[in-house]
Amino acid sequence: MGILRNLVMNMFYGLTRKDFNNVYAHALMSSTFVEEPRCPKCKMASRKRMPPLVIDWDYGSSIIGDFTWPQVLDELVVTERVKRCFVESGFTGVRFESVEMIQKRGLKRPRKESKASKRVWLPYLGPPLWNIVVTSFCNMDLAQSGRSLIPECENCSRKRMIVHDPASPLVVRGDTWEGADFFCIREMYNLVFVSKEVKQVIEERGFTNVEVKERGYIGESNGALPVQKL
Ligand SMILES: [Zn+2]
Repeated sequence: MGILRNLVMNMFYGLTRKDFNNVYAHALMSSTFVEEPRCPKCKMASRKRMPPLVIDWDYGSSIIGDFTWPQVLDELVVTERVKRCFVESGFTGVRFESVEMIQKRGLKRPRKESKASKRVWLPYLGPPLWNIVVTSFCNMDLAQSGRSLIPECENCSRKRMIVHDPASPLVVRGDTWEGADFFCIREMYNLVFVSKEVKQVIEERGFTNVEVKERGYIGESNGALPVQKL
């Protein structure tokens, strides 16, 4: 059934971090945020990360993977070879922005690298790194995805997602998907989802520190069940 489903449905995939063992260098985001006005009722405020993406390398490894994850799964940094490959493949829904690096004042590259001092040191002299910025957004078919949104505040219309069926695939409302290879699902905030073509390219090229996981499929328009084309 799994194979059949893959053939007839327009599957999509989520990108996640692979290495948690210091095989590749880890970085932490250090960008500036701008806070949106606070809701007078619930006192919550959302914040927006300002460009550029600023990262601070962590200790552990000095090898930069093809993918780096400075803010859980919300921010993606890729190497020049990944950018070139995605551009050459003509993938849509994605833009590349430059990445800035900072290092705590007073820290200096040691003369002899020890295990404890392993990290990427500035000045950085390698090929440029790029921040993946997704430019295409779509909506989830909540019912088909086994989820619902519960209002949390009547003033700012903040909502919380309830997952009724954790095993359910994510279903995107076909009428909201622009056909892009890279997209975000508004209900899932900044998580990055990709088409089968992107998955194929990532696997063929063997890009490091990224895992491509099946997450769901693009449904037919208006939230109806996808038609089985057999
Ligand atoms: Zn509120």
